[in-house]
Amino acid sequence: MPLVPMRQMLDEAARGGYGVGAFNVNNMEQIQAIMEAATATKSPVIVQASRGARKYSNDRFLYHLMLAAAELYPDIPMALHQDHGNSFETCKSAIELGFTSVMIDGSLEADGKTPSSFEYNVEVTRRTVEYAHERGVSVEGEIGTLGGIEDGHGAGGTGLEHLTDPDQAVEFVEKTGVDALAVAIGTSHGAYKFSVKPTEDVLKISLIEEVNRRLPNTHLVMHGSSSVPQELREIINQYGGKLKPAWGVPVEEIQRGIAHGVRKVNVDTDNRLAITGAIRKVFVESPEKFDPRDYLKPARAAMQEVVEKRMKAFGQAGHAGDYAAKSLEEMTAYYK
Ligand SMILES: [Zn+2]
Repeated sequence: MPLVPMRQMLDEAARGGYGVGAFNVNNMEQIQAIMEAATATKSPVIVQASRGARKYSNDRFLYHLMLAAAELYPDIPMALHQDHGNSFETCKSAIELGFTSVMIDGSLEADGKTPSSFEYNVEVTRRTVEYAHERGVSVEGEIGTLGGIEDGHGAGGTGLEHLTDPDQAVEFVEKTGVDALAVAIGTSHGAYKFSVKPTEDVLKISLIEEVNRRLPNTHLVMHGSSSVPQELREIINQYGGKLKPAWGVPVEEIQRGIAHGVRKVNVDTDNRLAITGAIRKVFVESPEKFDPRDYLKPARAAMQEVVEKRMKAFGQAGHAGDYAAKSLEEMTAYYK
């Protein structure tokens, strides 16, 4: 199937009352793991690349791997999304490359670190929306600032410093026309989100409920939504890793979000953990092996297993055949 505009995918998810996992990729094995999981569960899927991923892979490699995926998996609706674009220029370059969706993260200044003013965020987001929508491309914005740092992008902190203000969220959506809105509810990027099982005082799902009540037609996005399962951490540590205990976002909390307007759920860390655990296991158990395929195959299978579980939990499983892809030209006409 040709790459699908993310807006169409999220509109369909809203109609069906489910969420769509957005999984980060840097290389071929990760794309293969996601596409195999989508096929096994019959899921539409968002594949996303951060600035760091585009740099690591040289983004033309990544883009052509995605085209190969579209060709090899014609029954899977797939959106290609720029994760955390730090500036208008980053988003523009993604659109020129062929991405069907971009995130402009104007909650931070272009350095990707300093929390910005509301006015700056509105301005850079509005400009990106104007450019993207003329080309049929979807836009995700962010209001409030997430915790942690991912691929060098992020304000750091616990995630509670700059929570989304529902009044600002309403004004932001009105002024920018974004298709999807990332909200800061206490989640952070990375493997150390919470030191104990998170409760409402640190993971504010009630804030999602409030924003959804005020903006019932805006697709909400949960970032930093890996669950950091203990068993994945234990495999890494069992084979020589040194990860401290930590909690992620429990799947049932994500499901509560999905019941209140969350349509895109970002997951990266869990897949990284699965890959690393599988590779460490081979290195320790079979130190005589040196063919990269001997450890990349189990790594790919371990990631596929995690992605399948998330696809079932988020509700996107079974929905791959619901619709045919809209073209970017059709989306341009829709925005006009
Ligand atoms: Zn994020």
